[in-house]
Amino acid sequence: MNSTTTLILGGGFGGMAAAHTLRSLLPLEHKIILVDKSPYFIVGATKTWVMLGTKNAGEITAQREKILPQNVAFVESDIHTIDSKSGEVETSRGGYRGDFMIIALGADLNMGAIPGLDSAAHTFYTVGDAMRLQVELQEFTKGDIVFLIPRIPFKCPPAPYEAALMLDHHYTRLNVRDQISISIYTVEPGPMSTAGPEISSFVRGMIEERNIGYHPLKQTESIDEKRRTITFNDGSEKRYEVLIAVPPHQVPEVILKAGLCNDSGWIPVDPKTMKVTSQKSNIPLYAIGDNTVVPLPGRYKPDKPLVLPKAGVFAASHGIIAAKQIAAAIKGETGHDEFDGKGYCYIETGGEEALKGEGSFFELPHPRMDRRMPDKEQYQDKIGWIEGWLHGKIV
Ligand SMILES: Cc1cc2nc3c(=O)[nH]c(=O)nc-3n(C[C@H](O)[C@H](O)[C@H](O)COP(=O)(O)OP(=O)(O)OC[C@H]3O[C@@H](n4cnc5c(N)ncnc54)[C@H](O)[C@@H]3O)c2cc1C
Repeated sequence: MNSTTTLILGGGFGGMAAAHTLRSLLPLEHKIILVDKSPYFIVGATKTWVMLGTKNAGEITAQREKILPQNVAFVESDIHTIDSKSGEVETSRGGYRGDFMIIALGADLNMGAIPGLDSAAHTFYTVGDAMRLQVELQEFTKGDIVFLIPRIPFKCPPAPYEAALMLDHHYTRLNVRDQISISIYTVEPGPMSTAGPEISSFVRGMIEERNIGYHPLKQTESIDEKRRTITFNDGSEKRYEVLIAVPPHQVPEVILKAGLCNDSGWIPVDPKTMKVTSQKSNIPLYAIGDNTVVPLPGRYKPDKPLVLPKAGVFAASHGIIAAKQIAAAIKGETGHDEFDGKGYCYIETGGEEALKGEGSFFELPHPRMDRRMPDKEQYQDKIGWIEGWLHGKIV
């Protein structure tokens, strides 16, 4: 194919992995443009460290332009519209057109989705919020800390459990843990339930052993900031001194406006190729990472379909697959690379220990996840993974 342009919308885990892979596979006459509204790349897995004050924002952030490969054009700009049929986007810096397009805009957080949540709750899902929470937690020595998971899906299913375990360790070390109650109220049936009953009951056992209360299948209705109380739809209430919520997630508005979502509220894709299935486009159109919904073939219960969890490792694998497919198409080859549903996640348990769960999500009859007991070696593995991303060693 003569010279082409590939537009990558979003430079997070998915967009970055796609840009690195594509640049390594294509000669320079093929242009790659990556558009992101922020100049900074942040690894989500470090936000619990900011919450505890062990790292500051500068230590967990990279300049996006520095970790992109050479000869990928970075446009720092807000994407206003996407015409997925023609491959054109309008941004705050003008229009761009691609012969190929990868949509990797992640998930937006919407604390306004539940009455009272925004003004009442802290969260550690953004760096700014994690910094504000750190100030509150630093002064806290007595009372109830409640973690609230009001909606699914949310990115990184282990994150709130990890945060609760890390807080338990933090206050134990400060000798005030017996004056502080920590509990988790969640709409989920159990922790990380898509990864299977074994890992779910293991994580639940770990948190209950550490005296963290666990309350599944709690549907949040509203929060009363004055009374410091959460009301659930079964009529029950829970009082808190510090409320830490996983924000409700939604697809970015620009994707919604482009008409790319199905009933799930996310972009449906072919689970193996990451090609968008909701729209016929005049150009090859891919969507990767958190802005997608990826159906899984297996189930635990016949009437309960499963979807792939939202995580950086999967977004990166999707990016690699989409890039390989595009490179093959440009070179006139048949693209044989397909996403295999495999990935891993770390759960930090405090005291510089972690466990790494290795998941195989396309397995039948249902997804499988293997794990070891938490230890320092797996924690070091997590550190290496994060450092790699922050220094551009991405694929
Ligand atoms: C606390 C926490 C812990 C986590 N821990 C882990 C972990 O241990 N392991 C793991 O694998 N994952 C983890 N994750 C999840 C991981 O961060 C996400 O799943 C991952 O970032 C998704 O990658 P993505 O490329 O789909 O989206 P993102 O990384 O969110 O990238 C989307 C990009 O699109 C840009 N964008 C959005 N809208 C626009 C627009 N209109 N115009 C221009 N640019 C736009 C954004 O600026 C952003 O850079 C964690 C997340 C959190 C919050």
